[in-house]
Amino acid sequence: MMKSKEGFIHSIESFGTVDGPGIRFVIFFQGCPMRCQYCHNPDTWNPGGGEKMTVEELLKEYEKNKGFYKTGGITATGGEPLMQMEFLTELFTEAKKRQIHTCLDTSGILYTEKKKEAFQNLFQVTDLVLLDIKNSREEGHLKLTRQPQKPVLEFADALARAKVPVIIRHVIVPGITDSREELEGVGTLISRYPNLKGLEVLPYHTMGIKKYEELGLSYPLEGVESMSKEEAKNARKIILETIKKERMKRIKE
Ligand code: SF4
Repeated sequence: MMKSKEGFIHSIESFGTVDGPGIRFVIFFQGCPMRCQYCHNPDTWNPGGGEKMTVEELLKEYEKNKGFYKTGGITATGGEPLMQMEFLTELFTEAKKRQIHTCLDTSGILYTEKKKEAFQNLFQVTDLVLLDIKNSREEGHLKLTRQPQKPVLEFADALARAKVPVIIRHVIVPGITDSREELEGVGTLISRYPNLKGLEVLPYHTMGIKKYEELGLSYPLEGVESMSKEEAKNARKIILETIKKERMKRIKE
């Protein structure tokens, strides 16, 4: 293998079970341009933090337990892995040479048409994308993440064109994204993607608060209570019903 460049890695989870199918080697990339109010990993935001590692070093770590990953693979998450696009593409390219399943957990925020060829190269070595849809509308997205929504939607469209399987992830925050209108908005938005393979609705939790204290940051959702799994389940049901309804409408048109 040629000498690979270094990436900034926040941490590694050797036996991940929630970020993609099977048991996975989960790599948390350092750096994120979003500032989601509910983020529980603010320690991944700084792009210059973490530990420098090469693709070779990461895959060597993977190989140590590769017997466990037979139905799993590698997941790149963060932070925002797209902040280290070249490194990520190199990692997934090497992984695919070894027949390892590759999964990218991303907000899609760094997509730009100018870099569409680079994204095509990445898509060719990506088996699955976990795409975080933060909000159904521009205004809500901006408020929740401090970033515009347009790149996310363009990224989702590019994934659809490239036929990359996508599982949508959506965090429900009480009082912010839990209204019926917003849930139906999300359902309508994602109903148009033919490459949609699943929907994960994640209830907001307060487990990240301590990290904000340690970093000397004020916590944006002070006073907002965690959401129960049951409420998240109901929210998921509303989104799924909307997807079905919207798709039926389109068939009839
Ligand atoms: S995209 Fe993820 S890592 Fe970045 S701020 Fe949002 S929740 Fe945190």
